[in-house]
Amino acid sequence: ATANRVPNFSAGPATIPTAVLERAQNELLDWQGRGMSVMEVSHRSKEYVAITEDAEAKLRSLMDIPDNYKVLFLQGGASLQFSAIPLNLLKDGRADYLTTGAWSGKAVKEAKRYADLGLGTVNEVATGKDSNFTDVPAQSDWSVSEDAAYFHYCANETIHGLQIFEPPQVNAPLIADMSSCILSQPIDVSKFGMIYAGAQKNIGPAGLIIVIIREDLLGQASEWCPLLMNYEHQAEKESMSNTPATYSWYLAGLVFDWLEAQGGVEAIYKVNQQKADLLYQTIDDSSFYNNPVAPEYRSIMNVPFTLADSSLDKVFLAESEAAGLMNLKGHRDVGGMRASIYNAVSLEWVQKLVDFMIAFEKKHA
Ligand code: PLP
Repeated sequence: ATANRVPNFSAGPATIPTAVLERAQNELLDWQGRGMSVMEVSHRSKEYVAITEDAEAKLRSLMDIPDNYKVLFLQGGASLQFSAIPLNLLKDGRADYLTTGAWSGKAVKEAKRYADLGLGTVNEVATGKDSNFTDVPAQSDWSVSEDAAYFHYCANETIHGLQIFEPPQVNAPLIADMSSCILSQPIDVSKFGMIYAGAQKNIGPAGLIIVIIREDLLGQASEWCPLLMNYEHQAEKESMSNTPATYSWYLAGLVFDWLEAQGGVEAIYKVNQQKADLLYQTIDDSSFYNNPVAPEYRSIMNVPFTLADSSLDKVFLAESEAAGLMNLKGHRDVGGMRASIYNAVSLEWVQKLVDFMIAFEKKHA
């Protein structure tokens, strides 16, 4: 029987398509008629390796990843990449970082620790702090380095709801944290040196992180880089230097199947735009709700909004929960509410949210 699945607007771990969970449930105890679960088999078995190859092939096809890029399925979360990136790529050089919110802020802070230890130089080209991360400083005001080893930015700031849709045009290889926007809209992978994304938003369960890296960026790691964080080593070992997050990897493959069945990234992007338009329109049509992000940077995945009267916050959360709309509480750094509307959140769920918001305003305004 299908479980009672409620609209879940969690920022992450986030909702996973019901059809994916049902498929996983069907084969949980008896995978491929083997009398055991996929999580109980060796990651080196032929059957499991086939799963990983299939998942990689599907991701390559969904994102149209060129052949000169490696795709790694690693552990440690997106946060571990904040360390892995300088340890792999900074070596004695200079790196540029754009700060547009909490996550890119954490990335530059971690990189600076290695710079302080003598690994190289880390240059924050600009920060949107003065706008409380509701806007991105104009590129003409960035202090871009002549010779950076890479340029790091966060394509979608999950907490601040700020998304950079067009990759910055800089000479250095671009590195993008796409944890909360990967697979939500078509992108041209060839514009990037590296893309990374934690799985727990648009890919599947936590515990898995995907790194897509251009081959010429491999082989430059500092001698201090832990072996497990060394991209070249992991590429050589097919992401199996040690035991990978086998179940998360398997489930990611099922999500890729699901996304293919939805028509792929181009098709889901259309739905994502409709969802975001509906929600922002509702917010903009009322003086009861507000979203502070500059319109051109409004995220289509994470929509923070405040109530004009913040004393109603608790009531909003209690009533929305009673209406079966879950996890709308905003991040403590921003306050108010946040609706995360990743790929697995349907237009129907967003319509329910919007209907609730309009009714709530009528009742309480
Ligand atoms: N980067 C972004 C954009 C995120 O949204 C998150 C988590 O929500 C992270 C990095 C950190 O991910 P993790 O908790 O997997 O380390």
